[in-house]
Amino acid sequence: MKKAVLFDMDGVLYNSMPFHVEAWSEISGKYRLDYTPQDFYLLEGCTGDATIDTLFQRTFGRDATAEEKHKIYGEKAALFNRINPGERMTGAENVLEQVRACGMEALVVTGSGQHSLINQLEKDFPGSFRKEKMVTAFDVRFGKPHPEPYLKGLAKAGCPASEALVVENAPLGIRSAVAAGIFTVAVNTGPLPDAVLREEGPGMLFPGMQDLAKHFDTLPDLPPFRV
Ligand code: MG
Repeated sequence: MKKAVLFDMDGVLYNSMPFHVEAWSEISGKYRLDYTPQDFYLLEGCTGDATIDTLFQRTFGRDATAEEKHKIYGEKAALFNRINPGERMTGAENVLEQVRACGMEALVVTGSGQHSLINQLEKDFPGSFRKEKMVTAFDVRFGKPHPEPYLKGLAKAGCPASEALVVENAPLGIRSAVAAGIFTVAVNTGPLPDAVLREEGPGMLFPGMQDLAKHFDTLPDLPPFRV
């Protein structure tokens, strides 16, 4: 029986990806990096440093220096914070209600490194998440697609991979969760074709969180709903 659901944050709990992509695009343009907006959907989930190195390799044939990464990531994060309205993903609260209704624990596993995150999560999704049950950029050495973030999530949930589910929207996030051995539910909340997500081996795929909420009872090995 499943005991815990590990949620990715951007593009799953929040409709924040369009603003990440806008911020990355504007800053990449400013630094004359070779990019397309789709790159940022494909790279979603990996660290800011890894994203910047990918673009530097393509544009200049080398990694960015630590100073370049610090400056570019700082500007991107500042711009994102200015333009992101913090909108919850439609259907996310409904999914969380059902997680609570069958007595499972909800955790967040995100590559994001904002200190204010947990307060915001507690405000936006009351009763679902606790600080000590979160994995953020501060908890890991390797970002997604490495399995480490989701393995840490399992440790915080206190259960083996077989007793957990993951909800992810990004190809590299799905790869990370699958590599951690967890049954992964993909939600395609962005512009990438379903095939790009399916290639990473999720157990199920839904077109969005609303659809997952509607078909929640089709997830495998759920505990019985409490009345
Ligand atoms: Mg995501």
